[in-house]
Amino acid sequence: MITRKKKVFAGIDAGGTSFKCILADDNRNVIKQISVPTSVPQDTLEQCIEFFRSAGSEYKIIALGIASFGPLDIDPRSKNYGTYLPGPKLKWAGVNLHDIFKTALRIPVVIDTDVNGALLAECAWGHAKNHTNAAYVTIGTGIGAGILCAGQLAAKPHHPEFGHIRVERHPADKDFKGVCNIHGACLEGLASGPSLHARFGDPQHLPKDHEAWDILAFYLAQACVSLVLSFRVQAIILGGGVMQTQHVLPKIKQHYFDQMNGYLGQSMDDIDKLILRPKLANQAGMWGGIYLAQSVE
Ligand code: ZN
Repeated sequence: MITRKKKVFAGIDAGGTSFKCILADDNRNVIKQISVPTSVPQDTLEQCIEFFRSAGSEYKIIALGIASFGPLDIDPRSKNYGTYLPGPKLKWAGVNLHDIFKTALRIPVVIDTDVNGALLAECAWGHAKNHTNAAYVTIGTGIGAGILCAGQLAAKPHHPEFGHIRVERHPADKDFKGVCNIHGACLEGLASGPSLHARFGDPQHLPKDHEAWDILAFYLAQACVSLVLSFRVQAIILGGGVMQTQHVLPKIKQHYFDQMNGYLGQSMDDIDKLILRPKLANQAGMWGGIYLAQSVE
């Protein structure tokens, strides 16, 4: 008797601390998942491959989608598609995720940035559903954004480098040099997790009323203003480790309201609907991988 293997999709949320691997069916039921620590490329990738290979004896994996940290080549027409470019994670520069997984698993492999993946997942199943213009911004060890503009991902075949825009200084933060190793005081240099750490110590130990939160919100509000003024986004989804701090979001909204100064006539109610946390919580990247896998024809 021939038994057909169940068809499933594979996804990876490739992050700075872990590679989250998932298998899911057509209806978004999770079949299996593991988290592999991000160490040297060979160790991390071998463990991911082993996970999918062993699942392959039980399931028919249709395709793999990877939503990854950058910078990386996400142009499917490029010979370097899926290759990490020189960036903060030096050991990963030159590693070609696409070729490694395609050779090992012999299935189609689709790759995009973690934030584009998370944005696509939020568009399909989360807070950006039915929007033609939306953004997903991650604020963690770095800052990055995926932007949907008129129903298309902006900046293709590249990806936005929104984390490195310039921002106006908070009056109480004029002297800090910033932590971006390229620009110093860009958005990432002033509002990422490491930037908070550099000025104020471990953010987890800061009281709610510490000025650090107001400084952070001031910069992130400017990012939101830039996204609305440039792309007229209908939703800005703020994810990443720094946004786990619950009391930051209201401060960002208040600064956004003040900085817009009535332009576009948005009320606080409008802003509540505009600036949001991910509906898919910290799984947006992982579901982004599944969305990418499902996009394979
Ligand atoms: Zn920078």
